[in-house]
Amino acid sequence: MTMRILCTNDDGFMATGLRVLASAALRIGQVTVVAPDREQSATSHSLTLHHPLRSRRTSDGTLVVDGTPTDCVILAVNALMEDRPQFCLSGVNHGQNLGDDVLYSGTVAAAMEAVVLGIPSVAISYAGPDFESIEGWEPKLSDLLVQLLTGRPDFPASTLLNVNLPPLPPDEVHGVRITSLGERRYSDSLTRAKDPSGREYFWIGGGATHWKGRPDSDFRAVDEGYISVTPLHLDLTNYDLIEELQGWKLEL
Ligand SMILES: [Mg+2]
Repeated sequence: MTMRILCTNDDGFMATGLRVLASAALRIGQVTVVAPDREQSATSHSLTLHHPLRSRRTSDGTLVVDGTPTDCVILAVNALMEDRPQFCLSGVNHGQNLGDDVLYSGTVAAAMEAVVLGIPSVAISYAGPDFESIEGWEPKLSDLLVQLLTGRPDFPASTLLNVNLPPLPPDEVHGVRITSLGERRYSDSLTRAKDPSGREYFWIGGGATHWKGRPDSDFRAVDEGYISVTPLHLDLTNYDLIEELQGWKLEL
């Protein structure tokens, strides 16, 4: 039986990364692309609640939604796809999603939403500065997806895999590493200035980035030329602290 695969992203339906992903996934199964009609990077897990959503089909069959990546997954699974997808792939994002990035990423959030809906899911991001060079990655990405999606009846439940491709030509990659999330700290990433009318404005972004994390961290793997695969689950509970907090004897 052919595997039904949903492909989505947060860079919008025109993005090169999405085209490469859908093309790579075709080797595994039947691909349906449902993607936002515009750039939705850093929208995280936003839901559109206050206006209706519409979808349209382009000449190549892509379904375009005027909503967020999370909206796309919900519509795809519950309305737009005739049969429920067996896998969801999100990406290939134009830019890395390492460490704390996963908290803001629409790419990762789309994969999370699929997991919430009970669909195994993989988010893929490319750390290269030249996004058009993602195209050269298609054969290698396809090989990786075959390994991740097929012959894995034990694909982890309630977990998504967050994959980051290093900024290298694919034939120079050293291999694959299973990693943990690193931590990223920004400095000077908020600009404060005045507009031509003299009114103050703020602009988030830029600045220097500092990383820290365990030796098996995702950013180290990518920095050393490996593909990083991080298993992420959605349970944010800090179980180690439950007993300690019970000791606080909170009462009202
Ligand atoms: Mg993006």
